[in-house]
Amino acid sequence: MRALFDLPFPELMFRAQSVHRDNFDPTAVQISTLLSIKTGGCPEDCAYCPQAARYDTGVRAEKLMAIEAVLAEARAAKSAGASRFCMGAAWRSPKDREVDSVCDMVEAVKALGLETCATLGMLTAEQAQRLKTSGLDYYNHNLDTSPECYEEIITPRTYQDRLDTLDHVRQAGIHVCCGGIVGMGETREDRVGMIATLASLPVHPESVPINMLVRVAGTPLAEQVTQDSATLDPIEFVRTVAVARVCMPRSMVRLSAGREDMSEETQALCFLAGANSIFYGPKLLTTPNPGRDRDRELMERLGLSPMEPTIHPAPRSGEGGPPEGRWKGRGQ
Ligand code: SF4
Repeated sequence: MRALFDLPFPELMFRAQSVHRDNFDPTAVQISTLLSIKTGGCPEDCAYCPQAARYDTGVRAEKLMAIEAVLAEARAAKSAGASRFCMGAAWRSPKDREVDSVCDMVEAVKALGLETCATLGMLTAEQAQRLKTSGLDYYNHNLDTSPECYEEIITPRTYQDRLDTLDHVRQAGIHVCCGGIVGMGETREDRVGMIATLASLPVHPESVPINMLVRVAGTPLAEQVTQDSATLDPIEFVRTVAVARVCMPRSMVRLSAGREDMSEETQALCFLAGANSIFYGPKLLTTPNPGRDRDRELMERLGLSPMEPTIHPAPRSGEGGPPEGRWKGRGQ
């Protein structure tokens, strides 16, 4: 995999585009909207996260949103063109009654005709099963970085804890959304390690979000990265997307956090490198994201169109790869 990262850029892009076209319509982009249903006050210490209670970032701890308010946001997301509605809660691991509340939201959002996704922290096998029964389509739980870099970013939970939650989700038959963050001062070797770990999960995640670090004042990484001047070269970000595409041919590779500060040219290169999913809407949990008009205009200029959702049953570990992500693209 290191050899892929090290390829001359045109060679890597050609390979990524070939794999993308073999598996997807390259003009179709899946659109997700992410809502923070429970903001701030998290007991964890993820060094990039403005929602950790221990960092002074100006994010106030809030209670779980009422279901009516979540539904109003879901309706708005649907009428703005989203096909998937993701609900994020800043918990280390939810209590059973909190999972019950989210299950009610999942049922109601699904009834609107949207795919559903949740990210709630670590889950037990029983909680994953309960979410599956409510109709949850996807669960997001990122590996964040390579196993080697991990302890520099998060201390209270181990890499294995994350793999265990992913296993519970997979065993419950929920689609897995799992990726990571680049630009945290990690090495290329770490980026290789992160993609290699994702690609060696028993089944590739159906969605692979690739985030660029958003430096939020008050978080340890904002300070550290500024001191080190370790801002990631945009071309290296595009390379990461391309390697993810080559290594996980049938996964949705999602441009996630960091697009607000990314040039349109870099985003266009990411689409050429095989990215085929974005978060849509002006806010990603607590950080800014390009407005819907800007995204619509960019997609129009690039000749991209929204992908139609088609949910297939999620494969369980050992059952082979996902046939997920068929689209209704142009001319089909
Ligand atoms: S990334 Fe998630 S688990 Fe980590 S501090 Fe933020 S909300 Fe908590």
